[in-house]
Amino acid sequence: MNPFVFQARIPRVVFGAGCLQQLEREVDLLGARRALVLSTPEQRISAQMIADRLGTRCAGIFDRAVMHVPIETARAAREKAARVGADCAVAIGGGSTTGLGKAIALESTLPILAIPTTYAGSEMTPIWGITEAGVKKTGRDPRVLPQSVMYDANLTLGLPVGLSVTSGINAIAHAAEGLYAQDANPIHSLLAEEGIGALAAGLPKVVASPGDADARSQCLYGAWLCGAVLGSVGMSLHHKLCHTLGGTFNLPHAETHTIVLPHALAYNAPAATTAMARIAAALGVSNAAQGVFDLASRLGAPTALKDIGMPSDGLDRAAELATTNAYGNPRPLDRGAIRQLLQDAWEGKRPA
Ligand code: NAD
Repeated sequence: MNPFVFQARIPRVVFGAGCLQQLEREVDLLGARRALVLSTPEQRISAQMIADRLGTRCAGIFDRAVMHVPIETARAAREKAARVGADCAVAIGGGSTTGLGKAIALESTLPILAIPTTYAGSEMTPIWGITEAGVKKTGRDPRVLPQSVMYDANLTLGLPVGLSVTSGINAIAHAAEGLYAQDANPIHSLLAEEGIGALAAGLPKVVASPGDADARSQCLYGAWLCGAVLGSVGMSLHHKLCHTLGGTFNLPHAETHTIVLPHALAYNAPAATTAMARIAAALGVSNAAQGVFDLASRLGAPTALKDIGMPSDGLDRAAELATTNAYGNPRPLDRGAIRQLLQDAWEGKRPA
């Protein structure tokens, strides 16, 4: 058995369809009296529903969360939190809203109660990201890890089917890379396998019946586990590629993960055979890279970078950036081979 170091800091989790009923208790447990509710403009109605539940314990709503946390938005949210005397942030939404809560916590240590409504997994990680002058900076800081997380599948029933699929595969990507991480360990590998299996089983049911609360719960359960892996072990080539493509070419987050993952797995397969076998087994297929590609195609997700706005003349630059300051990776990074990987992902080829 390989030697390992295990360490975990996972927030308190309240899980179950309808668990939002326990919101007031969770706010009480934080010792908070004046919650600032965060959301995107699109989820303002959900934020208002939280505010109504909290009544006098709600200090206000800030509904301007957007992808990649622009510094101007972070500053405006921090100012509002200070102005209304908030003593906790309740973030209802996906990774963009949780990310805004983290940007506030980074400077104020305001505790975060996260109510995730996608499968991105940010609520389980101490990773923050803020974009300034078009450049996204990220870092790890224990202060930004939410203190409490409520997973209520009823809040995900309206997550559009397309985003459900790509967000679910985004979560699978965290677990897949966790299985071949340099600091992989037996506990997080078990979480990763279980998380991939839950999403691979749940996503087709969500596509068939988006209002199926059991299928939604199964996906949210998978997202929780995959997020816990992301928060605890290091990520590799796949996350570096997606970070580069998202940051430099402004590609949509979950779709980019969905398209790139099969190709990153195919690249790493010769150097991570045990991890690939575990990913394939969790997916119920014989080849991990092809299994992810087939899952995405079967569920109607995009499979080609050219279809989500990636310019073909950006591929050289992307290959260069992805191999500069690279994250640890099981297979050494070869610029030419990464350029070919990006070409295949751009064209939407099924991995060989
Ligand atoms: P998102 O939060 O940007 O949400 C996408 C859209 O879907 C938004 O308009 C949102 O309001 C809407 N939406 C979310 N849940 C909904 C629901 N249940 N019903 C209807 N609409 C809903 O998307 P995301 O993929 O969750 O997050 C992406 C962002 O999160 C990126 O910026 C990414 O870098 C970041 N992220 C960070 C981490 C981390 O650990 N720090 C992890 C994963 C993602």
